[in-house]
This record gives sequence, C-alpha cells and structure tokens, in this order.
Amino acid sequence: TQALSIRGLRKTYDNGFEALKGIDLEVQQGDFFALLGPNGAGKSTTLGIVSTLVNKTAGSVLVFGHNLDTDSVAAKKSMGVVPQEFNFNQFEQVRDIVVTQAGYYGMSRGEANDSADHYLQALGLWDKRHTTARMLSGGMKRRLMIARALIHNPKLLILDEPTAGVDIELRRSMWEFLQRLNEAGTTIILTTHYLEEAESLCRNIAIIDRGEIRANTSKRELLSQL
Ligand code: ADP
Ligand code: ADP
Repeated sequence: TQALSIRGLRKTYDNGFEALKGIDLEVQQGDFFALLGPNGAGKSTTLGIVSTLVNKTAGSVLVFGHNLDTDSVAAKKSMGVVPQEFNFNQFEQVRDIVVTQAGYYGMSRGEANDSADHYLQALGLWDKRHTTARMLSGGMKRRLMIARALIHNPKLLILDEPTAGVDIELRRSMWEFLQRLNEAGTTIILTTHYLEEAESLCRNIAIIDRGEIRANTSKRELLSQL
C-alpha cells in the first residue's frame, strides 16, 4: 500500500512564485522517509499541501488511497501533522491542548484521555501535563506538537523540520522516539535540511531543490553517490 502518492503537484503562490514545478512522490506504508533539501526548496509547501494547510495549484495527492480533493475527511483521519511553527494556544495547559485535538477525530472523552496520557508519558511531558504551554522550553513545545499530532493514532506521521533549533541531546531522544514509533508500524515522513538527520533516521530519501525532485532513492544508494 502507498501511504502517500503525489502526482504532478504544482504550487504557484499569489505573488506568482512557482514553489513546486510538478513533483511526483511515492511513500510506501511502513517507510521512514525524508524529504531533504535546502531552505526555500519547497519542502514546507509540499507538506502544507498534504496536510491541507496550503492550497495546491495542480496535481493530486492520495493518502492511503484517499484523495485529498474528494475524500479529505478520511485522508485527514489517517495522518497526524507536526508543522514547523508552534500553533497551539500558549495559555492552555499541556494536557488540555492534546485532549482538545481528539475532538476533531470524534474520539470519546475516555479514549482521548487515555491516548493523551500515553503520549505525554512516552514523550517525557507527563510531569508538565498541568503546566501552561508558554512556560515550556522550546524542546518541550516541539514534543507537545508531536503528542498532539498522535492523539488519534494516525497511520502516517508527517513532521516539518522536527528538530530545527533543538539541541543535540534532545534531538537524539526525539530520533529514538520516532524510530520506535516507526518500528511499531507508523509510517513517518519528515522534512529536513540536515543530511545527517536523513542519514541516521530514514530508509528512503527524496531530494528537492527549487521546486523539483532531483533524486528519489534508498538511503544506501544515495550515500554511495555522494
Ligand atoms: P495561498 O496561495 O496558499 O493562499 P498566499 O500566496 O495567499 O498562499 O500566501 C499566504 C501567506 O504567506 C500570505 O500572508 C503571504 O503574505 C505570506 N508570504 C508571502 N510571501 C512569502 C514568502 N516568501 N515566504 C513565506 N510566506 C510568505
Ligand atoms: P522549504 O520548506 O524547503 O524551506 P518552502 O516550501 O517554505 O521551502 O518555500 C519554497 C519557496 O516558496 C521559497 O522560495 C519561499 O520563499 C516561497 N514561499 C513560501 N510561502 C510563500 C508564500 N506564501 N508566498 C510566496 N512565496 C512563498
């Protein structure tokens, strides 16, 4: 099964800038996939379109076979998204932020609480569950974003530059968490401009540059070409 299938994806922003020039991308179920590229390449635009935060200009996106244009509810249920910017309410408590998200997926109160507590523990945020979000460190806010994205146990987790600005120690522990999640069956797609991150975590890597896919291959093959 394909977790993600992108065909002919184009994005021209309102100012006329062509951020995506017709990209194709396939990610298999169970993969740990990196979209690697320099700043401005089109990584966030791609993930923004997949997560329905950005409108596409042309092309198609299927998430586990669900077309974003015609079947967006099913597509959204099957994925969790961690955008780059912190977009939770800074004045809410940590646990409430995670539990509230469950409402969008029609989970019962009990399911939501159990799932929230599970991920707060797994991500080392249990002691902070009653803390107001703005009091958290940057790394904790990043983990809060991940806990919230996982509340409905999505089959696909998408992260935009998950470790940008995160110190090396926390980066390692986030990598371990993501690796365990992938081993337990969750497909993971992340964007990064760190080759090292793609190299140590991911099985398959696509390189994007100026709105075009330059390479799409297994990690082993890619590294042998460098
Ligand atoms: P869409 O076509 O998806 O609706 P827009 O072109 O309307 O997106 O832009 C969304 C927002 O991003 C606007 O508020 C715009 O001002 C802002 N924006 C404009 N240029 C850039 C840029 N180079 N990088 C990031 N954001 C930008
Ligand atoms: P990346 O995530 O790889 O750094 P982005 O997808 O954020 O790249 O941006 C790709 C290109 O599109 C960049 O040149 C950026 O300035 C431009 N861009 C992003 N958002 C907007 C916008 N809202 N309006 C105009 N240009 C944008």
